[in-house]
Formats: sequence, structure tokens, C-alpha cells
Amino acid sequence: MIITLKKDAPKQEVDKLIHSFEEKGLSVTMINGDNYNVFGLVGDTSKLDEKLIRANHFVQNVTRIAAPYKKANRLFHPEDSIIDVQGIKIGGHEKIVVIGGPCSVEGEEQVMEIAKEVKQAGGDMLRGGAYKPRTSPYAFQGLGSKGIAYLEHAKERYHLPIVSELMSSDKLEEFVEHVDVIQIGARNMQNFDLLKAVGKTNKPILLKRGLSNTIEEWIMAAEYIMSEGNENVIFCERGIRTFEPYTRNTLDLSVIPIIKEKTHLPIIIDPSHATGDWRLVESASLAAIAAGADGLIIEVHNDPENAWSDGAQSLKPQRFQEVIEKGRKIAHVIGREM
Ligand code: PEP
Ligand code: MN
Repeated sequence: MIITLKKDAPKQEVDKLIHSFEEKGLSVTMINGDNYNVFGLVGDTSKLDEKLIRANHFVQNVTRIAAPYKKANRLFHPEDSIIDVQGIKIGGHEKIVVIGGPCSVEGEEQVMEIAKEVKQAGGDMLRGGAYKPRTSPYAFQGLGSKGIAYLEHAKERYHLPIVSELMSSDKLEEFVEHVDVIQIGARNMQNFDLLKAVGKTNKPILLKRGLSNTIEEWIMAAEYIMSEGNENVIFCERGIRTFEPYTRNTLDLSVIPIIKEKTHLPIIIDPSHATGDWRLVESASLAAIAAGADGLIIEVHNDPENAWSDGAQSLKPQRFQEVIEKGRKIAHVIGREM
């Protein structure tokens, strides 16, 4: 961190400030210029709040050199982290993992039927929402525990690990017991208590990017989970809010190389919520694979016209299979499997 002080800062004030940093275990190097005094702080500055330092009247400017995240930072962990979900490995350079399934679990028969199709198409895991974060309180809110039980039955029959969204920590025990990957949805990306709660488990966490969050805020959300001890975090880009109304959200593919450069964690893409339109899901999926995504999570429904949520962006099983087939060809070109 580099701190610039006003030239007229009294020596006594400068010494006081330097002392306060040294007390925190940081080493301070002073550079005296003509118009400013500049000093550099070396050591772990992640706990320093630059806004608080700027509150000092004699401080002109504060520049952070190191990122505020440590556990997720590639600098301190150069190798890719590979997250193991019941033997399926997410991250690294080999397999691209495909997760398919309905937005919401609507009943046992529905989830069984879709699970069968996901498996036949070559999917690796089954998704399904049992607790749904709906914009309207009058919309279907999910089947709750019954939905989780149906997913579990489908998992047993088709050997597909299950991914489902946890909205509140009072259901954490249920998820730890029955779900293989706990999804933290876009709307809860900055629900810090929920992040800390899942951080105390050892379950893989699928951390979706918030509707309007920066990459750094997203990585800091992962840091919340990791700082509690759970390092099994998988990022999931699902599109962000922009001014563009032709798509539900705007898919930000630039995050793939950025997340890979800044962190050692895997990143997957959700082309369904990113586009909001089944017609766009294939292009977005293929582009994501080409850009280096470690996986895809795609909404699949056997009767999208009558789906209880997100039918417009859900693929029929046949199309889901086509996406996997085309995706495999792109994966092959970049030296990966799918
Ligand atoms: C979902 O996966 O169905 C969902 C609600 O996702 P998001 O949090 O990305 O909107
Ligand atoms: Mn959905």
C-alpha cells in the first residue's frame, strides 16, 4: 500500500501514523519528495481500511497495490484448485463439467424424468431449486424439503450429484446432509451471515455472481466463505444487470480469464440466467467453453412451456444434448474433455 501525505504534515503527525502501522506488524519505507511525503507499507495490509486511513487530514491519497483477498488469491496459491464433488472434479485443465436440470423441482416424476434425460445427454450433475428466490412473493416459492427429497431420489437412481440453492442458514443442516453442492444465489452473494455459515461446512459451494456486483466484490464473497475454513468454492457467472433489454442479463465472459488470473478457484457459466432465452443458450455455452470455463450449469425442462419457473430459458433435453455434443468439439480444440 502506498500512502501520500500532504507536504505540510507536521513531523509529529507523520511519526504517529508510521508508529500505528508498525504496531500492526507492517514495515514502513519513507520517500521524501518536493511536494509530498510518500511512504510504502509492506506486509499483510488486507486488514487495513483505506477509507479510514484517508480520514486522517494529513493523508492526501492511499493506493492499494495488493488485492484485499488472500485465501482466494492466486499469488499465494499458484496451482489451480480442483473441487471434488463425489469424484467429479471441477477446475484444473481437464474435464469441463456439465450440470443440467430444472429451475425448480416441481414434483418427483418431473425431476426423475429430467434427471434421466440429463444423464442420457451426458450431463455430470443434476440441478434443481427446492427453495426459490422469486421476485414476487406470490410466485411459486419451491417445494422445500420435499423438493430436496425428490432430488435425492433422482441422485440415487441416476448417480448424479445434486446442486441446489440454500437461501437461509436455518436450512443449512438439511443441505449438508442431502445436497452435494450448495448454491448461493445471485441475490444472496452479499448475505455475509449466510456466506460465513456455509464457510463453516466442508461442502462445495457454487457462488453465483450478484446481479450488479463487481468482480472484486464477488471474490471478497468467496473470501468470506474461505476465511471460515471452507476453501471449496466454485464461481458461477450468471450475467449482470446492464441497460440492455434484449437479454435478461448481460453475460460477462471476460470474468473467466480474470477470475483465473486473480484466483486459483474454478469458474463455471450459467448461460440460462445470463440470457433468459433458450435460443441464446447454445451460443453462450459454446463461447463459455472456448473462453476457458470449467463447466456449465444449464436449465433443462421436459415441458418448458408449462414450467413453474424460468421456462423461457430452459432447454428441452434434445437441445441440451446438442449443446453437449457441440461443446465437446470445442473442448477438444482447446485440449479439454467434456
Ligand atoms: C437459479 O439458479 O434458478 C437462480 C435463481 O439463479 P440466480 O441466483 O443466478 O438468479
Ligand atoms: Mn432459474
